[in-house]
Amino acid sequence: MTYDRLVCANCAAPVSEGRCPVCRANRERLQQEGPFGGLSPVALLTLLVILVAAVALLAHQTA
Ligand SMILES: [Zn+2]
Repeated sequence: MTYDRLVCANCAAPVSEGRCPVCRANRERLQQEGPFGGLSPVALLTLLVILVAAVALLAHQTA
């Protein structure tokens, strides 16, 4: 989804210009939508912790 034409409800300027905190927050949120689009940073962090724990467990078993 492109945000080029989105207008901020707070300052009525294009969100892409980032004139107010609401614009910048929306812009960052939209820019973060990539392969992990629907996931929140907390969810990503949780996945990372699980991954590190799994690797540590495997390393412990093979040692
Ligand atoms: Zn704004």
